[in-house]
Amino acid sequence: MGADSARAAEDRGDVAARLRAVFALQKQAFAEEPYPSQATRAAWLDALERAVETNEERIVEAISADFDGRARAETLIGEVLTTLGAIRHARRRLARWMRPRRVATPLHMLPGRSRIVPQPLGVVGIIAPWNYPLQLALSPAAAALAAGDRVMIKPSEITPRTSALMKEILGREFDERVLAVAVGGVETGAAFAEIPFDHLLFTGSTAVGRRIAEAAAKNLTPTTLELGGKSPAIIDESADLAAAARAIAHGKLFNAGQTCVAPDYVLAPRGRLDATVEAVAEAARALYPEIDTTPDYTAVVSDRHFARLKEMVEEARAAGARIVEVGSANALHPRRKLPFTIVVEPPETIRLMKEEIFGPVLPVLAVENADDAIARVNAGERPLALYWFGRDAETRDKALKRTVAGGVTVNGTLWHVAQENLPFGGVGASGQGAYHGEAGFETFSHMKPVFQASRLSSGGMLHPPYTDKTARI
Ligand code: NAD
Repeated sequence: MGADSARAAEDRGDVAARLRAVFALQKQAFAEEPYPSQATRAAWLDALERAVETNEERIVEAISADFDGRARAETLIGEVLTTLGAIRHARRRLARWMRPRRVATPLHMLPGRSRIVPQPLGVVGIIAPWNYPLQLALSPAAAALAAGDRVMIKPSEITPRTSALMKEILGREFDERVLAVAVGGVETGAAFAEIPFDHLLFTGSTAVGRRIAEAAAKNLTPTTLELGGKSPAIIDESADLAAAARAIAHGKLFNAGQTCVAPDYVLAPRGRLDATVEAVAEAARALYPEIDTTPDYTAVVSDRHFARLKEMVEEARAAGARIVEVGSANALHPRRKLPFTIVVEPPETIRLMKEEIFGPVLPVLAVENADDAIARVNAGERPLALYWFGRDAETRDKALKRTVAGGVTVNGTLWHVAQENLPFGGVGASGQGAYHGEAGFETFSHMKPVFQASRLSSGGMLHPPYTDKTARI
């Protein structure tokens, strides 16, 4: 082993040792207080709320600096409001969520009582991505704290200012035995994933999600995997095209397409293909009248992602696809602002149609009918989100029943994710498990079945010595 790799191994050892020390502290603290009271959990949620609320401006600034231009309103909506919403939703419902759920007891076990009792799991690990760096770290943390768990967070290295800010503001509100932030890159992530957490929630790419699942499996650590993929938007013959186009342009361009549930591509009826392209372009111009200069339009997060998106578009151009740009590629954009680029009928074989796009580039493809649209969706991996636009209830039900997607919004985009009463999660390659609201509380709890026998419950004829009647009960 050379000197450099020996030092790297030592660093790795250090990182792993530091993470394990925090984990041990949290495990010990959990052992001392395995069932935090409602008041304790509410105080934790208050602290989380304070950290976000009192640092709103610094959060906006840090994320904008990390992106080199993130729309202020998008940070307020997509990070601050959403996170505060999740915290407050959990705090208001804490008493109800913590209560045992009564279930019916089979006749021959009466008069015993059967209940499902939520039990804190212990120490929860959260690995977060860069695209909503605050929300995707703190919204699952709120659910875990509500469930009575201790929390360790590994934010993304691609948004370093936001990660450092989270470490600072959460460090001020929390003892690290309750909540700790471990800043670092892939190596820290890899060491983090090897910790024997009681639950590990990972948000990120499908490729890294596979590695996380492998590492967690060695410890039998249960995981929730919030992954990505290609989410389709299907426009039915019966759709109001202008309204569909507005929703698609909004869902695609929020955070410049760097949203896990952004519509990745559009399937439109062949006869309405050109009208769809024109309507989406028109809707984008209305949302961003000066897309080349407005600070409302977010930048692509890094040079690597910017180059990746440009290569995808160039490959489509070379393959003969028609390209419609909203904004000008030649304008003096601030750094890394990509014009909104619609790619009409690209071939299925190019990267644009094989990989998650995660940027302001939108393929629009023609389909012959609803069955064709369904077949196209089903030819790919199961998507995280599916959007369906139209008024015909029968076709809508057919599309929803014959496709398997993590979640659905009908006649809109993103909305099913932006609420705490619906569970949020993927299926197949787009993820497993769910959180948000009560689903999050249950994910981070052991929903423990408890049967309490009554003095009168005898089990009757189920005990030996058995009789002929025993088997017929
Ligand atoms: P990523 O998978 O590259 O990284 C996510 C996190 O994992 C980061 O903190 C990173 O440091 C860490 N990491 C990277 N390699 C690791 C390894 N080998 N071991 C352990 N940790 C490792 O994802 P990203 O680029 O940050 O985010 C974009 C992806 O996330 C997209 O695919 C997007 O669809 C997906 N996403 C999903 C959701 C969802 O809720 N389902 C939300 C946002 C983003």
